Amino acid sequence: MLYDALIVYFTLGYDRTEMKAQRGYLVNEFHYTGYAQEIIFRTGSVARLGEAVERFSWRRLMLCSTGSLRRDGTIASLEKALGERLVAVYEHVQQHVPDFQVAEAVTLALECKVDAIIGLGGGSPIGMAKAVSFALEEKHTGDGSRATYPTGQPLVPVIAIPTTYAGSEMTPIYGITHYSNDTARKITVTDVKLTPKLVIYDPLLTLKLPPSMTAATGINALAHCIEALYSITRNPLSTAAATAGVRAIAHALPRCYAAGDDVEARSEMLQGAFLAGSALSNVAMGLHHGLCQVLGGTAGVPHGIANAIILPHAMRFNLEATASQLAPAAEAMGITLAGRSAENAVEEAIQAIYDMIGQMNLPQHLRDVGIQEVDLPRLAQIALQSQAVRNNPEPVTGAAQIESLLQAAW
Ligand code: NAD
Repeated sequence: MLYDALIVYFTLGYDRTEMKAQRGYLVNEFHYTGYAQEIIFRTGSVARLGEAVERFSWRRLMLCSTGSLRRDGTIASLEKALGERLVAVYEHVQQHVPDFQVAEAVTLALECKVDAIIGLGGGSPIGMAKAVSFALEEKHTGDGSRATYPTGQPLVPVIAIPTTYAGSEMTPIYGITHYSNDTARKITVTDVKLTPKLVIYDPLLTLKLPPSMTAATGINALAHCIEALYSITRNPLSTAAATAGVRAIAHALPRCYAAGDDVEARSEMLQGAFLAGSALSNVAMGLHHGLCQVLGGTAGVPHGIANAIILPHAMRFNLEATASQLAPAAEAMGITLAGRSAENAVEEAIQAIYDMIGQMNLPQHLRDVGIQEVDLPRLAQIALQSQAVRNNPEPVTGAAQIESLLQAAW
């Protein structure tokens, strides 16, 4: 019998909403859900996708992807690997997964009677694959696909082939942007059934990722590690993965930015993204991610760019409450801990992250990405409703706190 998930309870009566920020580096209570996924990490593995798919007996696959991956030949290589098993292609997925595109892709999936959906690309096409899987389950069962048990199997599973470092391939979450009355609002959906059943990591697929996208999605992966380390629901596995992720990313990301065709650096960076996604998959994110979702869904800022602008500010906001949890990240970045306070070491790490973001020529101010100062109060109000913001280790009690962070980032 295939166990779809392994769940470990170390406390009884666990309730996320009641859990207070745990201040120490170690946790003494946690709740862990493991998702059964087959993960293949190998240079050149995408060429053998057909063999991997064969083992799962999927016959009618649909591909969700983006135009740039059609233009650079990546989609053609998948078409070759899958042959007749690929019965539908939706290749224009836009950033932040708009609701009207989900409707189009679901119609195509129903017409073609697909039995599995591939997300190829960054977080957007992988998110689209999850959104289609969710909608098909709802249509077939007449019910939402929210799994009551973590062992629930999806009717139409997701296969993820990441080409950025965003990490969606490891998580049961997707975001969808709803448009109504001239406003856009990004909503996240979480369901263990959506966690991709097969993940193919092929560093060769990342060689053409442009320097700007390399940098932005790499910082997104780093942010997953940081928010996992201080998450109010962290566990020993998420902490171990996040710390190893910081080490790999700090070492490999500048090299990938400088020389995109360095396969060794690309491989180390993709492993860093895998570790970051693993850490993210099991813990509640905080203020940083809540703000990035609002900046993306409502203001249209690309997700990785929002991460680059907000991360140092979110770390500073949380510094006092989380220094002991972030000290291992500082150490993993090569910062000495001996003879100084954790807070002091983490301050150095924040500055090093800020400098790395600048050296990779990413925007560092909200004003550089089209946000008007007058919009900040409204964005703060929207962010205040975010569950991630409510889960922040340093409690966020009012919009004024968020507004002053946004002002500092502006
Ligand atoms: P993206 O998927 O939005 O892609 C951005 C651009 O990069 C696209 O134009 C795409 O065509 C291009 N691109 C992707 N791979 C490429 C490659 N190898 N070579 C050339 N161009 C390439 O970007 P993203 O930052 O990966 O994903 C962001 C989205 O993912 C956001 O919607 C975010 O909310 C979501 N996300 C979700 C999770 C999760 O756990 N569910 C985690 C992280 C991000």
